[in-house]
Amino acid sequence: MSAPGLGERLEGVRAQIADAARAAGRHPGELTTIVVTKFHPASLIRELAELGVRDVGESRHQEAKAKADELADLGLTWHFVGQLQSKKARAVTAYAGVIHSVDRASLVDALDAGERATDCFIQVNLTDDAARGGVAPSGLEPLAERVLTSGRLRLLGVMAVAPLGQEPRRAFARLRATSARLTALAPEATAISAGMSEDFAAAIAEGATHLRIGSAITGKRPDRG
Ligand SMILES: *Cc1c(COP(=O)(O)O)cnc(C)c1O
Repeated sequence: MSAPGLGERLEGVRAQIADAARAAGRHPGELTTIVVTKFHPASLIRELAELGVRDVGESRHQEAKAKADELADLGLTWHFVGQLQSKKARAVTAYAGVIHSVDRASLVDALDAGERATDCFIQVNLTDDAARGGVAPSGLEPLAERVLTSGRLRLLGVMAVAPLGQEPRRAFARLRATSARLTALAPEATAISAGMSEDFAAAIAEGATHLRIGSAITGKRPDRG
């Protein structure tokens, strides 16, 4: 038997997402699935687009820009999900419609000077390791104020990656509590970007609205160059 192809994996994940949504009493239509295509060639993204994918995620600027340029004809929404250096922020706003990794004031200011208005998530660090991306949960409100008073950033909500070695659902429950703090300040910013290949069902159970799923759909990533 041959291994399942891209279309079958995509269909399989879509079915699992729908099941997890129903199990949580939610409607699958509330969820946006972003297919994370880092390290994969532009040709794979073209195949995904043919299968109906509209939202793709990338984590490194140079790679993302090259693909966005090559695939400009597809009209996809590009989500930037990786850690972002302030000096690259302006360039990323040229192609990314949504930035999931806003985690410090200097980055807000750099994005605010960008080429166009951009939607964003504040990334929250759910680990004790400050080197991981994300603002410490205690820093959420001041950073949110900074985004809200910016001219060109629209705040959608919070984003996080579940820490390794921890039950993902518990981590996502903490993210959901962080989201409630954010919406107290910014009632529109209700979105939650959470859930990857291994833990999207747990994220859906805890209110995720934007799933960032890579390898479960794309297959194993090629070695990073
Ligand atoms: C790579 C990546 C993903 C997707 O990871 P998979 O385990 O392949 O689903 C999601 N979010 C971020 C921030 C990533 O870097």
